[in-house]
Amino acid sequence: MTPVDLAFARAYHAVGSLVAANPALMGFAGWPAATPAQKSARPIPAADLLKTWSDGHIAATQEVRDAVRDLSDFANWQQTYTAEEVGQDFLDRYGWFELVGPEGHFQSQDIRAYIAYWGENLYYPWHLHEAEELYYILAGEAFFEAEGAHPITLRPGDIRIHSANQPHQMTTGASPVLALVLWRGEGLSGVPRMGTK
Ligand code: ZN
Repeated sequence: MTPVDLAFARAYHAVGSLVAANPALMGFAGWPAATPAQKSARPIPAADLLKTWSDGHIAATQEVRDAVRDLSDFANWQQTYTAEEVGQDFLDRYGWFELVGPEGHFQSQDIRAYIAYWGENLYYPWHLHEAEELYYILAGEAFFEAEGAHPITLRPGDIRIHSANQPHQMTTGASPVLALVLWRGEGLSGVPRMGTK
């Protein structure tokens, strides 16, 4: 194994251990035995921000957070939106990569597991998607709103589930947020769209 392969394997096992230790996470979609895939590094500005931010986690999330930091230069980072949709500042300080899933660093057709980062003082407007979604906060905090649900500030270890096509939005305050995002169900290969319908 190369050092990069080892870094990804460490992250895959760290997230798997986190999921297995948490009944709410395990009950959402389990954790698949996924096959490593060769994905090219696709760096974005947020990857550097993530590496230089070291507080805001809890003991249960430290292993995942450290593993993510160590592979940040090698991840296939993505951004769903354009500058026209969310603004350039948002794009400069946000990103995600698919650790496990149909397009992930580890291949599975059963779930998608993303690692996602947003910098401080960002507003992620209303959007929705068909797949059911679970947010688990690894570090930092953010204010979550969803149609039909009470607004809530989520902190490390907290969970929020969005049902199929339930519109939701998120706002960060003084702190960035790093989250594990799980998808399951219909629309697994779909993408979010802006708006509330
Ligand atoms: Zn979502």
